Amino acid sequence: MLHRRRVDKWMPLKESEAIVLRSYPLGEGDRLVSFLDRQAGRVRGVARGARLPKSRFGSTLEVLAYIQIWYFERETRELVRINQCELLESFLDVQSDYPSGVCLALISEVTEAVLGEREAADAQFRLVLLTARAIRKHGASPVALAYFTVWTARLGGWLGPLDRCGRCSRPIVNESLFSFPGFAELYCMNCREIGMKEISKEGLKVGTQALSGTLERLFQLNPSAEASREILSYGLDILEQHIEKKLLSRKMLEGRGTG
Ligand SMILES: [Zn+2]
Repeated sequence: MLHRRRVDKWMPLKESEAIVLRSYPLGEGDRLVSFLDRQAGRVRGVARGARLPKSRFGSTLEVLAYIQIWYFERETRELVRINQCELLESFLDVQSDYPSGVCLALISEVTEAVLGEREAADAQFRLVLLTARAIRKHGASPVALAYFTVWTARLGGWLGPLDRCGRCSRPIVNESLFSFPGFAELYCMNCREIGMKEISKEGLKVGTQALSGTLERLFQLNPSAEASREILSYGLDILEQHIEKKLLSRKMLEGRGTG
């Protein structure tokens, strides 16, 4: 299993908690897996024989599977060798509902795109897990996705205050704000510029509540789907601007009218 080469020094077996972000078929029966290691951040590796019948990996490599993972690193190579996985929590049951599956796809696509390789991202790890669990509990909910999106933008350092004008610094309560799609900066109605998109006071309230409390608390406040979608859309525009591409799962989401 483990071929030692002269130039490739193998590091000791590493054990960690991880969340599977994506996996792709590789070669005859292998899988290339992108996962979020709780300590190490986003890592890519090869799971040998994962597509063969009776593979020892079983369903541990499905999207957003929460796993215990053991892998080998090599000093000179980017890809790790995945040795073993044990399932801690599966989201296969959530995938069986199409709209919920699209939500999970959005979570994994966004996380994969925003995180740099091997940058510690424990907060994003916890965010992914709690959002996926909320989708299991509440179904395909724009509330859960709005929470996930504003927090992802906040953790990335790309989100400004949602309750102050970015130009005149006036505190904003019960007023709409305006922004250019993809840009975080929000202007009040006096400072707004042509081409800016309005975000209603209800939408801003969902965003502010998301950033100041837990996801369960946000659900208890029962924000409207419309206001949640508004702030979700604002957040996704910022993320897409930052990653410089359109999210495929966002198209699926908006096509189904769940987001
Ligand atoms: Zn202003």
